[in-house]
Amino acid sequence: MKQITIAANWKMYLDESSSVDLIDKLNAEKELFLNKDIIIFPSHTCIRSVKDHLDIDLKIGMQDCDIHNKGAFTGSSSISSIDIHSCIVGHSERRIIYKEGNDVIAEKLGAVLASKADPILCIGETLEEKNDNLTESIINSQLSILPKDLKGRNLTVAYEPVWAIGSGDVPSNEYIHQMLSYIKNRLKSLYSDTDLENIKLFYGGSVDADNLNNLIGVELIDGFLIGSASANFEKFKDIVKQLKL
Ligand code: PEP
Repeated sequence: MKQITIAANWKMYLDESSSVDLIDKLNAEKELFLNKDIIIFPSHTCIRSVKDHLDIDLKIGMQDCDIHNKGAFTGSSSISSIDIHSCIVGHSERRIIYKEGNDVIAEKLGAVLASKADPILCIGETLEEKNDNLTESIINSQLSILPKDLKGRNLTVAYEPVWAIGSGDVPSNEYIHQMLSYIKNRLKSLYSDTDLENIKLFYGGSVDADNLNNLIGVELIDGFLIGSASANFEKFKDIVKQLKL
């Protein structure tokens, strides 16, 4: 059985003391979290404290990064500024709220691929796009920024329909399966079998302890990107309890 990855996107929900508090609770029940594939994405300002407090070998990632590595970019954070496992690019909140288009996201993806961190590229349609039957063309355009050759690097594509994020409106397993199959076929047309072995597919959008067990039934899912439920220790614990490995 494959090991399901849980990527905990804390967004801007937790300040430094709440981040450390959650890590302290996690440390206190460490047996549950051992041998699980978990990546925690704190706010940039809390990464150092989370790393320092964490008593278990969990992975830490960045929620976003700049396209540049260094220089006069006030308020921004470089992928090379701290040693992390992975970095999210193209989250719909960056696309919609911060107006990041495919061009910027392609540069961010390039910056992550040029670093040691693994990228998680988020893609997905809005409700309006879904209703206009534009889902596949949106996915195609969001995938069009992928490099021609992964050169042995890992890549995760997280399918996150925008209408499912934070809404409690989770697509059916059939819908997710259909979309992940579509994405997988697109990736097959782009990459060699060797590259494909390094690509994972995640689902994200209102995942919680109540629906996780059912969603794990979607065969193509390698992991979940989880927002609000991951920033609450009790909810996160209930999610992790359901992982078999
Ligand atoms: C997300 O923002 O990536 C996400 C999946 O959020 P939520 O779990 O809160 O829907």
